[in-house]
Amino acid sequence: MRANIAKQTVLITGASSGIGLETARALADEANGDIKLILTARRVEKLDEAKKELESKYEAIKVYTASLDVSKPQLIKDFVKSIPEEFADIDILVNNAGLALGRDPVGTIDIADVQAMLDTNVLGLITLTQEIVPRMIKRNKGDIVNVGSIAGRNPYPGGAIYCSTKAAVKFFTRSLRKELADTRIRVIEVAPGAVKTEFSIVRYKGDQEKADEVYKDKDPLIAQDIADFIVYACTRRKTAVIAEAVIFPSYQA
Ligand code: NDP
Repeated sequence: MRANIAKQTVLITGASSGIGLETARALADEANGDIKLILTARRVEKLDEAKKELESKYEAIKVYTASLDVSKPQLIKDFVKSIPEEFADIDILVNNAGLALGRDPVGTIDIADVQAMLDTNVLGLITLTQEIVPRMIKRNKGDIVNVGSIAGRNPYPGGAIYCSTKAAVKFFTRSLRKELADTRIRVIEVAPGAVKTEFSIVRYKGDQEKADEVYKDKDPLIAQDIADFIVYACTRRKTAVIAEAVIFPSYQA
C-alpha cells in the first residue's frame, strides 16, 4: 500500500545538483506537484533554476529556496528560524548535502579538507537534524532520510576521512531511529555506491580528467536511482520503516 505524500513539506539539503536535485524532482512528481519544497545549498542560482523548472511543470507546487552552508552550525540555526510559516511544518527532511575531497593517504590529507568533510557530512547533518526533530516530535510525524554511502561500510585506501564521516552518518541514523522508536518519525539511511553526479568533480577539485577516470568503462548509478528509493521509503505505510538501503551499480558488488 502506498501512502500519499501530497500536501507535505519537504526540506532537502544539497538540492542544487545530483541526488538532492533529483530527489526534489521525484518527490514533486510523486505528489503530482501538490507539495511544498524547501531547497537549500550554497549555489542559490542553481536552486532558483530548479524552482523555475518545477514551477513551470506544476501549477500547485510551492518552492522556497534558501542559501545554506550546512558546515556552519549558526547558519543552520538562523536558516531554520527564517523558514516562512507556510513551510514550517516539515514532514520530510532529506539530509543529502555532502562531499568527499581528495583521495590521499592519511599522512598527506590537507587538514582543511578534513575539516570541511567533517563539518559538512557530519556536523551539518547532525545540527540540522537537531533543529528539525523537536518540530517533528511536536507533531508526532515525519521522515528523516540521511544520505550515507557504501563508503561508510566498505572503506577504501585514500578514503579515511570520507569513509569515517559516512560511518558516522550510519550510526547517527541508527541511534536516532532507536531514540524515536516510540514516535511516528521514521529515520532512514540510503547508502549509495558510485552515482554519476558532480561528486567526483568536487572530489578532484575541478580536475575533469580525474573525475572522468572514476567512471571510465563503468556503468555507474544515476541520481534518479537514489531519488526513486527515497520516494519509495517515504510512501510506505507509516508503520513500515525501511531502515537502510544500500544501492550500488552491479560492478561494485
Ligand atoms: P553533488 O556534488 O552533485 O551534490 C552535492 C550537493 O551537496 C550539492 O548540491 C552541493 O551544493 C551540496 N553541498 C556540498 N557542500 C555543502 C555545504 N557545505 N553546504 C550545503 N550544501 C553543500 O553530489 P551527489 O549528489 O552525488 O551527493 C549527494 C550526497 O550523496 C552526498 O552526501 C554524497 O556524499 C552522497 N554520495 C554520493 C555518491 C556518489 O558516488 N555520487 C556515493 C555515495 C554517497 P552546493 O555546492 O551548491 O552547496
